[in-house]
Amino acid sequence: MKSAFRLLRVAGIDIKVHFTFPLVLLLGAFDWGGRHGAPGAAFGALLMLALFVCVVLHELGHSLVAQRFGIHVREIILLPIGGVALFGRMPRKPMQELLIAVAGPLVNVVIALLLGSYLGFRGDLPLDGSRLHELTQAGPSAQTFLQWLLAANVSLFVFNLLPAFPMDGGRILRAVLAMFLGFSRGTRVAAAVGQMLALALGLFAIFNGQILLALVAAFVFMGAGQERAVEEARVLLSTLRLGDAYNKYALTLTPGDSVHRVIDYLLTSYQPDFAVVLGGRLLGVVTRDAVLQSLATGQDDNYVTGIMSREVLHLDAELSLAQAREQMAEKSAPVASVFEGERFLGLINRDDINEALRIAAFLRLAQERKAGDVSVA
Ligand code: ZN
Repeated sequence: MKSAFRLLRVAGIDIKVHFTFPLVLLLGAFDWGGRHGAPGAAFGALLMLALFVCVVLHELGHSLVAQRFGIHVREIILLPIGGVALFGRMPRKPMQELLIAVAGPLVNVVIALLLGSYLGFRGDLPLDGSRLHELTQAGPSAQTFLQWLLAANVSLFVFNLLPAFPMDGGRILRAVLAMFLGFSRGTRVAAAVGQMLALALGLFAIFNGQILLALVAAFVFMGAGQERAVEEARVLLSTLRLGDAYNKYALTLTPGDSVHRVIDYLLTSYQPDFAVVLGGRLLGVVTRDAVLQSLATGQDDNYVTGIMSREVLHLDAELSLAQAREQMAEKSAPVASVFEGERFLGLINRDDINEALRIAAFLRLAQERKAGDVSVA
């Protein structure tokens, strides 16, 4: 991500901060400074810094487990809303995704347990809600610092376990569902659960006038929809067949058409090749080059049958795009005909295939960008 600066490097992973990150320090300083003056402001900023150390540890939890499964972790970026770990690819097996997703919140449990046992040992453990409320009123002290950090880690744990994308809970749910339903159906069900949850949360927030919570609900709702879109792109990539990529709306010719008609078509459309068809049967192909050649030799008052090539490479619609490209390169055919069994479907040329693969690559890129972990503080 641009506009992010590298802080340090742990286990080969760059840990970066986004340029908007200092906002969250200011927010902490403002919050505590309002109640406790200048020392409070410094304390508030320090609290936020400590919170984000916990967020980094949370992301490292995900990342180190992902690395164990051979997944390249590109970087961890700290944003004001939390941390994001960017992975080179998605985990292939549901069990891997499950373990990666669980590892983050588990780090917060460990931190909370360490803080809790230390504070409990000293008799400073805030256990009930009323004492948690006192916490925000208490002045800056080492005790307040540790108690606040404990509460923050507990809320990080609880919030991240919400069973909705992009939270870890959504990934855990998807991984478990994928074990029984497969990845695609698991994703659809998990996304639907997440969106219903977000809707319920949003309604609750609106009726209770909690604007921030309503925003979080909207964020969760969109996250679930995005996850579904990413999965659809992945399915498209692995199932992109020749039958999906040929031009279904191509102009065709009949043996009785003149070369002048093809010239008209060339001038008014972007289509470079034309199938000559009679009763649904493919007779041959007229290419732009053939038309230009006939123009150069002054034979443009002929019928298209005079300039069409009858040797056309036949490809089955079931072939993947990569296979089709390979066969066309082998035969050095700039254009091929696509058949479903005996039925002629249409023509495909190298540009069509390259365009389809380029779009597929974009979809994959979008997928990889989102194949990270988002943890919201
Ligand atoms: Zn996480």
